[in-house]
Amino acid sequence: MNYQQILATIKSEMSSVKHTGKVASYIPELEKIPENKFGMHLYCMHSGHYSFGDNNERFSIQSISKVFALTRAMSLMGDELFTRVDVEPSGDPFNSLVQLEHENGIPRNPFINAGALVISDILISLLEDPKKDFLNFIHKITGSTDITVNTKVFNSEKKHSYRNAALLNLMKSFGNIENDIETVIDFYIYQCSIEMSCKELSSAFMMYANSGKLLPNNEQLLSSSKVKRINAIMQTCGFYDEAGEFSFRVGLPGKSGVGGGIVAVHPGQYAVAVWSPPLNPKGNSELGMHALERLTTLTGLSIF
Ligand code: GLU
Repeated sequence: MNYQQILATIKSEMSSVKHTGKVASYIPELEKIPENKFGMHLYCMHSGHYSFGDNNERFSIQSISKVFALTRAMSLMGDELFTRVDVEPSGDPFNSLVQLEHENGIPRNPFINAGALVISDILISLLEDPKKDFLNFIHKITGSTDITVNTKVFNSEKKHSYRNAALLNLMKSFGNIENDIETVIDFYIYQCSIEMSCKELSSAFMMYANSGKLLPNNEQLLSSSKVKRINAIMQTCGFYDEAGEFSFRVGLPGKSGVGGGIVAVHPGQYAVAVWSPPLNPKGNSELGMHALERLTTLTGLSIF
């Protein structure tokens, strides 16, 4: 298959797609990112790298970090993890408070904010230096040891984290948060403020396409059965309350973030990352979703 040709086709098609998305503005620093940034990077297990556009430029990974946090927590803890957070799609916006009240402070899944805050709380309890551990993990799975946090984005989000504070307070009232609220918010926002490029994200996600093994050395970082579970949660919960639509149109497990990034995997085949900052009303990169829909259509490679 001529992947570079397929990517060139996607790039040219995307230039004529009419789009109405808006760059996230509730974190003021993210609003400053030019809306015409656009990059895509495809990492195929059997044939290597293909890309176009701003694929090497780093951007705020935001909620894509939730996959890495879940991976760290699952490698440190067994099934009791899932007594603190469920694995059901939420059908509600990522930062909604409503379900939590009805469901006794147990978040629907690890990829909505409430669930990721519980995962952060767990990592803080288990690790001596959770921030260092988290960054080291990303360095290991990408091989890029200079990946770090954008402090402007970090400070900007910290000043506006009223809703995440509300989620934490509500969950703490149900006994589902062990550490103090300030510490958990700080670690959670730290993860979201990390910057990575499409190329680095596709390398990082290769372990989910490759049954938990890093490439090129095949080091087993997580068991294949745990990777199967993470991919299942990405499939059902990776796109806010648009996970059904993403499955329907693209047909891959993946995760998006409000920085405009989307990463998706085809187990046994490839990992792909795309970045375009304007978001659709559900909070997913509008052009990113179009581009991935075209990728699985033109290659015939989706999991369905
Ligand atoms: N840091 C963002 C928040 O908590 C992440 C949102 C996202 O990318 O979904 O609001």
